[in-house]
Amino acid sequence: SKTNAGMIERKNQAVARGVGLAHPLFIDSAKNATLTDVEGRKFIDFAGGIAVLNTGHLHDTVKQAVAEQLEKLSHTCFMVMGYEPYVAVCEKINALATGPSAKKSALFTTGAEAVENALKVARAHTGRTGVIAFGAGYHGRTLATLALTGKIAPYSSGMGLMPGDVYRALYPCEMHGISTEEAIASIERIFKFDAEACNIAAIILEPVQGEGGFYVAPKAFMAALREICDKHGILLIADEVQTGAGRTGTFFAMEQMGVEPDITTFAKSIAGGFPLSGIVGKADIMDSIAPGGLGGTYGGSPTACAAALGVLQVFEEEQLLDRAKVVGTTLRDYLTNLSQQHKVIADVRGLGAMIAIELIDEQGQPQPELTAKVVAKARDKGLILISCGLYGNVVRILVPLTVPDAQLQQGLDIISECFAELA
Ligand code: PMP
Repeated sequence: SKTNAGMIERKNQAVARGVGLAHPLFIDSAKNATLTDVEGRKFIDFAGGIAVLNTGHLHDTVKQAVAEQLEKLSHTCFMVMGYEPYVAVCEKINALATGPSAKKSALFTTGAEAVENALKVARAHTGRTGVIAFGAGYHGRTLATLALTGKIAPYSSGMGLMPGDVYRALYPCEMHGISTEEAIASIERIFKFDAEACNIAAIILEPVQGEGGFYVAPKAFMAALREICDKHGILLIADEVQTGAGRTGTFFAMEQMGVEPDITTFAKSIAGGFPLSGIVGKADIMDSIAPGGLGGTYGGSPTACAAALGVLQVFEEEQLLDRAKVVGTTLRDYLTNLSQQHKVIADVRGLGAMIAIELIDEQGQPQPELTAKVVAKARDKGLILISCGLYGNVVRILVPLTVPDAQLQQGLDIISECFAELA
């Protein structure tokens, strides 16, 4: 029978080492918030496949939607012949997207592909090529998105410089000394020193930085960005690949930010584990590209769209936006209490159920080693966590919103035990 060690040996032989593995585990099956590895051991999943499983692993409704679709059709290529699920997903996303403007959408496969296409629309609409992105932002691993991703190691180490016309501004983060004013000033400096505003097509940001450490953009910052964009004819792109699909307590996080973005990207939890991404934006902007200029063989595939429709049904039937608020409050209260016992937990933050803790010692030094130890010990005790952050010192929680309360509590108790033993 298979073992984790045996599978890791096979992986090391067969898979390029650049494809890392955060945990030395191979998973055989999963249901809702429970994973079972190839040795039959069960784990509680607080990582959700990096924000993909807001409706849990293999939700019955999602499974059924995909199974029904598989009885009918798996592929035509939407650019060749249409099928209803694609249009139905776009209609629903248009209705859920932030702000009053009429919306249109287009579907793709991965988050990075959605970001790439947002850039294409912004270029076509503005006739400009420049983009402003933020330090510690994460937008993907393709070449254009790596250029936007504001962290070199490990994402682009050894790969040379990425495609140009990207300018880096500072993301506001009070706890690391960057005020909203300073972040805005960093954009004004770009206009002064690097690139005229009339050459910038878009400003792209995550409303809550995901990989970068779960830092929430202040509303005042969003308002200032919107103002800069309007003043200079620049598009505001909200990358909601990680924050979207209900994680933050609203379907899109921008709903809580007080401004309407021009284009929003989505992926991950939108289809509960099936590969689907997309962009939704103001209809006139989205129509900037002529027929044939957007697409991809598998973009918005019938099974992925069926899964997304299943996910959206689960959100309605189980009122998962409300559930996200409850899960978020539970996480925040528990971890805040824990931070009072362990000073190394310097911050508990997030939006809705997108919650993280940041580990910093009394001298103000980030604690990536302790973070790694907490993650490893939690795993040994049966809880899957993942870290993030520019300094690798943030433990982030992306537990399925469908997690049973008892299991949520069990996971939190494991985190508490880890700190009691390590900190
Ligand atoms: N944007 C954001 C905000 C993300 O968090 C991610 C994935 N972590 C991506 C884009 C890229 O998505 P994918 O890995 O599906 O290409």
